[in-house]
Amino acid sequence: MRRLDRETVDRIAAGEVVTRPARVVVELVENALDADADRIEVEVWGDGTDRIRVVDDGRGLSADEAELAVERHTTSKLPAGELDAVETLGFRGEALASIADVARLTLSTNDGGPRGTRIRVDGDGVAAGSVGRGRGTTVEVRDLFHNRPVRKESLAAASTEFERISDRVATYALCRPSVAFTLDHDDRQVFATPGSGAFADAALSVYDRTVARERTTLDTVATLPVGDREVDLGLQGLLAYPSVTRSTTAHTRVAVNGRPVSLPPIRRAIERGYGSLLPGDRHPVAVLAVSLPPRMVDPNVHPTKETVALRSTDAVADIVETAVEDVLSTADLRRSAEVAMDLDSSLTPVDADTSALANAEFVGRFGGLYLLCDAGDDLLVIDQHAAHERINYERLREAVEAEGVPSATLDPPATLSLSPAEVAAVESHASDLARLGFDCDPFGGGTVRVRAIPAPLGRVADPETLRETLAVLRDGDDTGRRDDLLADLACHPSLKAGDDLDNGEAAALVDRLGACERPFVCPHGRPTILAIDEAHLAGGFDRHPRRG
Ligand code: ADP
Ligand code: MG
Repeated sequence: MRRLDRETVDRIAAGEVVTRPARVVVELVENALDADADRIEVEVWGDGTDRIRVVDDGRGLSADEAELAVERHTTSKLPAGELDAVETLGFRGEALASIADVARLTLSTNDGGPRGTRIRVDGDGVAAGSVGRGRGTTVEVRDLFHNRPVRKESLAAASTEFERISDRVATYALCRPSVAFTLDHDDRQVFATPGSGAFADAALSVYDRTVARERTTLDTVATLPVGDREVDLGLQGLLAYPSVTRSTTAHTRVAVNGRPVSLPPIRRAIERGYGSLLPGDRHPVAVLAVSLPPRMVDPNVHPTKETVALRSTDAVADIVETAVEDVLSTADLRRSAEVAMDLDSSLTPVDADTSALANAEFVGRFGGLYLLCDAGDDLLVIDQHAAHERINYERLREAVEAEGVPSATLDPPATLSLSPAEVAAVESHASDLARLGFDCDPFGGGTVRVRAIPAPLGRVADPETLRETLAVLRDGDDTGRRDDLLADLACHPSLKAGDDLDNGEAAALVDRLGACERPFVCPHGRPTILAIDEAHLAGGFDRHPRRG
């Protein structure tokens, strides 16, 4: 830990660091990441001015370091004092001091010794003591802007300030999937990522099943020409399929060397990579972590480090566009290859003759997912998950028409954090939600209390289903809306690939599918049954067909 020299301080992009509660959270999270934390817990009360606490299990500080850390322009992060190749998120040594100027700050830290250190900084000065805690650091910030009444007055509604915080923490969690993040608001958990390293795992926690399922991942190293040399450009991340989009650009997240940044040229390159797959005014849900040699990136161009200057931005953008385009097109190809399988065109979706199932006899299973049936001239291959969705969907539709979807009471109620627009949708679509089996109401602070959820067919849906249901309610036109919702609800309790069915259950599933009004497509429009006719098998084996 040392004090930066005058010359370095003068080169630091000047500006106000702490403008709103989300800025405090960002600085504390960045410090925890710089300390190589594996777990980062962010807790926020109210709009964040009441209390923010960030707990990490990083390397911590010794007593001497901790006392210096809260002073201005003291940092452990610029070893040679040079700003040209910064490898950490922090480098200016001013965040803790700036926060302490406008709030009461307590830093409790331990670098692995028997005792930890606690430093309190407020208007009365700095007090140091010892504290029992394991390795890591906790920073608690109370009464933010207590001495800046104008600043405090200018903050938005608590729900909006918390939304900003939640968006920032989500961004770090998505861009740094190997770190386990939790975010709590007023003692309730908003999300928790597992820290597995997989972008899809983080996306499942921050978003929902739709995003986690309808996506592909990107992991590639390209060569970037820089002058007469070449450097490696790493691209990693997650791209939701064009079936999952958002109306704003806020869900296209870019990080450069682990630092989430606003970089419109790169964001636009991602959108160009989606190209015409993206409906007109919609934007992708995507996370792109770009890695470059530190010398190619200047993070010292903005007082709050929200953007960076990239050398060769255009060349990087071109590579990003191509990589996104490639990975999306191969993802699509892979999906159609699954349907085509082999035996060239012999696998065609059955689509008209309902009687085909009437005399279909279940003969076995394949791959833990497919049910094989003998249907006279045809061998039928049934996707058990798609079939189950179709069956659930039709039963659900009947139930809704009769008396509404049965629901299950949650005791205690679940709390979901929603965006302001989603909260508004809970109110404006109250009767739709009730008919679909939800009992929920806004609870303040961007949260909704969910007292009951749909329990179609005896299996209880997940409270998170509310989020997806709202998305459909908000996007959908009136006619297709209810059917889409039912399709989604039908999907959740349905069998997943590999679910164990015994032979009796499998045969029953085939029977029930046969009884459906439209047995040949799942509620999302994908085929449930493929048929291979005898003639194709015979042709493949160079024999004459049995019949015809
Ligand atoms: P900077 O991050 O730019 O160095 P800060 O004011 O944010 O400046 O932090 C000052 C110093 O305090 C850091 O350089 C680091 O050594 C130490 N520090 C702050 N937060 C943590 C933390 N969570 N874990 C370990 N060290 C920390
Ligand atoms: Mg810092």
